Amino acid sequence: MKYAILGDIHANFEALQAVLADARKNGVTHYVSLGDIVGYNASPVECLETVRELNCPVVRGNHDHYCAGDDKLEGFHPVAADVVDWTRRQLSREQRDFLGSLKYVTRVETFTIVHSTLDTPEMWGYVLDKLEADASFAYQSTSLCFYGHTHVPLAFEKTDRVRSGFYSKVKITLGRKYFINVGSVGQPRDGDPRAAYVTFDLINNLVELHRVPYDFRITQKKIRDAGLPDRVASRLAVGR
Ligand code: ZN
Repeated sequence: MKYAILGDIHANFEALQAVLADARKNGVTHYVSLGDIVGYNASPVECLETVRELNCPVVRGNHDHYCAGDDKLEGFHPVAADVVDWTRRQLSREQRDFLGSLKYVTRVETFTIVHSTLDTPEMWGYVLDKLEADASFAYQSTSLCFYGHTHVPLAFEKTDRVRSGFYSKVKITLGRKYFINVGSVGQPRDGDPRAAYVTFDLINNLVELHRVPYDFRITQKKIRDAGLPDRVASRLAVGR
């Protein structure tokens, strides 16, 4: 049994298709989504419907949350707020209700999934350092938890203390805890423009990071044709 863990797809249909093709090639049998299916890029409907067809566990991201609701977008970055407004108009009431029905935290088999942090998932905090990871570890009841939100693949391991680092593979050892960021399918921010996702092989207890090239020029054209902010399109070429 092998899971693909899909983080921060952000309405990038070209990246999502490339990742799903790569996952099939890698023998993936099951999927989960860490939320932020929509927001930023120009294909929210296609991405949402593709994820729903996977019929897989999904947790709520901050963009899903705001696109589902009608709240005023105070405290949002103006570029992100523009896109949330646009995305709300693309989605049907039923699609927005689906996003609004998502849970913040879900357990799948032997692991947990969350978009931001386990300590206060509805506050949308970013886990980038050991102190933030340790706060989340206090609420983690499974050995392994996957998260997203920062768009930067990073692994934390807790034994008597917390260690962190970039990774390509992590072997899960019994008795330790792991909090692993899977990177972003649709808007990587670690300087590598390729789509990122993770596979988790439950038989061998092995987590692997994958990077998949895709034609982001098609995605950029869709963003510009939709009249969305140019910064959203240009960042895809540099992975920032
Ligand atoms: Zn995101």
